[in-house]
Amino acid sequence: KLYNEVQDLKGNIRVYCRIRPFLPGQSQNHTTIELVGDNGELVVSNPLKQGKENRKLFKFNKVFGPVSSQEEVFIDTQPLIRSVLDGYNVCIFAYGQTGSGKTYTMSGPSLTSKSDWGVNYRALHDLFQISQSRKGSIVYEIGVQMVEIYNEQVRDLLLCNGRPQKRYPYQYYFLDLHTLGIWNSSQPNGLVVPDASLHSVNSMTDVLELMNVGLTNRATSSTALNERSSRSHSVLTVHVRGTDLETNTLLRGCLHLVDLAGSERVDRSEVTGDRLKEAQHINRSLSALGDVISALAQKSSHVPYRNSKLTQLLQSSLGGQAKTLMFVQLNPDVASYSETISTLKFAVRVS
Ligand code: ADP
Ligand code: MG
Repeated sequence: KLYNEVQDLKGNIRVYCRIRPFLPGQSQNHTTIELVGDNGELVVSNPLKQGKENRKLFKFNKVFGPVSSQEEVFIDTQPLIRSVLDGYNVCIFAYGQTGSGKTYTMSGPSLTSKSDWGVNYRALHDLFQISQSRKGSIVYEIGVQMVEIYNEQVRDLLLCNGRPQKRYPYQYYFLDLHTLGIWNSSQPNGLVVPDASLHSVNSMTDVLELMNVGLTNRATSSTALNERSSRSHSVLTVHVRGTDLETNTLLRGCLHLVDLAGSERVDRSEVTGDRLKEAQHINRSLSALGDVISALAQKSSHVPYRNSKLTQLLQSSLGGQAKTLMFVQLNPDVASYSETISTLKFAVRVS
């Protein structure tokens, strides 16, 4: 079968694919991926096989090639971000193996240059700008939370001013999602991550300061930041509350920006102990996410939210009126062929 279509936008779920460029020093000749036209198609060929049968076609709502800029990627994301100000809940994920560009797409390679900014920063920038322009009719308040999910434990990365709260020494401050139900009943829409600190932000300066706190907290929890960050999910949540001055009604919207743990398969024969446990947690939570999104795409009556902390945390923003965007990140290298295929299989399953 030549066609392995990632179906057209079904309901509120869309899937974009982004292929990162070769890095300096990597040979450009060894790619398995070709872009086909401008209509969201790409072809992946198996380097070990000859002939037509080795070519598989995949179709997305959009494909961004190696030369696409951060800005181009954001232009197609912008409408979703804007809908948060109209009261929608939105989830944006980056999925892919470690090194495929998830953090590049979501955060960017650096924060010093605006042109490097990824979806997270561009989104907040946009939210501030639009809320300013509407301030004659709607007054918006914007708040952020940032948590990390590691081995099915949720941790607040934005403790007050970067210092551990008195009540909880940082390393013991795990959030208990069992309180989610209680929180839900007192908070319309259940928008707030229970117990995680919520920080009001008024400008990009505020945001950048807070993100530094988050990154520092993430770093201090481990000796090797990159190692650890590729094995945990990080969730930046933006809450928007608007008061309509004319009708005096309140609207709420929520945006989750998720840099997922690396999806690479770990060879069970090679890892043991903590590594194996980590790998099992990642596997389980990514497949739980896949199960939820595919149930939603198929309009199934049962959506299995309860199977992971990640899907529990995002429940109010997955399904119903909420909008979901998944960036499927690919590494073009031949050596990544089998991970590329497994990433694309995930994409096919959730769409
Ligand atoms: P991941 O978060 O999936 O592990 P990264 O975002 O850290 O991957 O990307 C791995 C490397 O590739 C980094 O050096 C990053 O700067 C680079 N990279 C990723 N995507 C791009 C891109 N679109 N353009 C240029 N460099 C990229
Ligand atoms: Mg990363």
